Amino acid sequence: MNILDHLLHKLFEENNLSREELIFLLKNIDEDSKDKLFNYACKTRNRYYGNKVFMRGLIEFSNICRKDCLYCGIRSSNKKASRYRLTKEEILDCCHEGYKLGYRTFVLQSGEDPWYTADRMVDIIKSIKRKFPDVAITLSIGEREKEEYQAFFEAGAERYLLRHETASRSLYEKLHPDSSFDNRINCLKTLKEIGYQVGAGFMVGLPGQREEDLVEDLIFLKSLNPHMIGIGPFIPHSETPLGKTKGGTVEDTLVMVALTRLMVPDSLVPATTAMGTLHPRGRELALMAGANVVMPNLSPSSVRPKYQLYENKICLEDEPAHCRYCIEGRIKSVGMELDMSRGDHWTYKEAKAL
Ligand code: SAH
Ligand code: SF4
Repeated sequence: MNILDHLLHKLFEENNLSREELIFLLKNIDEDSKDKLFNYACKTRNRYYGNKVFMRGLIEFSNICRKDCLYCGIRSSNKKASRYRLTKEEILDCCHEGYKLGYRTFVLQSGEDPWYTADRMVDIIKSIKRKFPDVAITLSIGEREKEEYQAFFEAGAERYLLRHETASRSLYEKLHPDSSFDNRINCLKTLKEIGYQVGAGFMVGLPGQREEDLVEDLIFLKSLNPHMIGIGPFIPHSETPLGKTKGGTVEDTLVMVALTRLMVPDSLVPATTAMGTLHPRGRELALMAGANVVMPNLSPSSVRPKYQLYENKICLEDEPAHCRYCIEGRIKSVGMELDMSRGDHWTYKEAKAL
């Protein structure tokens, strides 16, 4: 057995490798070993979740953001972005449309928009829960105070997505001159303590990101042990300071998806829209590298073009019904099965069964 095969096999068996082993693997991986890696990743996923792909309906309810993340198309300094906010009624309409299409989980995502105070968010969450008691609500609205996270949880939001973006402190600080790495990480820990199913995650191909930094992401995720992990390529947006940089590749992102699956074997890992943006079958490739979630868009088509964290985002013109069936075809094309249920992390199902 050559050294790469040995490392991959060890990672498959033990769901862990040392920092040095991971760096060696990442720097030396070849096409042959990638096939083996993807194979191990799919086997590992199937052990926990079978060949199911869970669907989440994404509602991008505001593109107003007080933060200025260097990579993001809706950062506050982008004066060309045309801004919008959805009202509670508009959000409920999106849920209604999604519910009719069979979705039982909604992801409410936005910039860090202070207009949505804790009270307004609680009202939105409670209204959704009142109308659709059997759905799971996921929030992805950035960094808030512990009391606010607690209030959202008590109102009925059970999941929270907050990518750590990069586990390298120095890279994080360069990309977020207005934010604190420690606060981001502390928010993730707080969310976990409160009892949320928590999603962390990172971008691949950030300017200045080395293999060593990506290995820090894997080690960080292993220790945080989140329920969900979102991984996507960084895609430059021309109206940002990083507009002329290179961006991540599908190939590198697939390797990180598969390594993440093996390091945190029971996580829920989306095949991200950013993958679909870089490659016509990017999401299918991610599913074949160990992902098992997709998040089709339920936002009104009138606002979709305005929610461009990166450019050339796919599905800007498509109606939710179209996305629902388009994705189903893609899932079937890789021999997997669509699952429209809430798609909780398996440990939560266990907890409920007790
Ligand atoms: N404001 C919230 C949620 C919206 S941003 C937050 O930041 O947590 C959602 C995710 O989009 C971010 O976590 C980031 O990883 C990703 N993103 C932003 N700009 C991107 C870009 N240019 N390319 C790829 N992903 C990007
Ligand atoms: Fe705002 Fe999130 Fe974009 Fe950062 S990544 S600028 S917090 S929307």
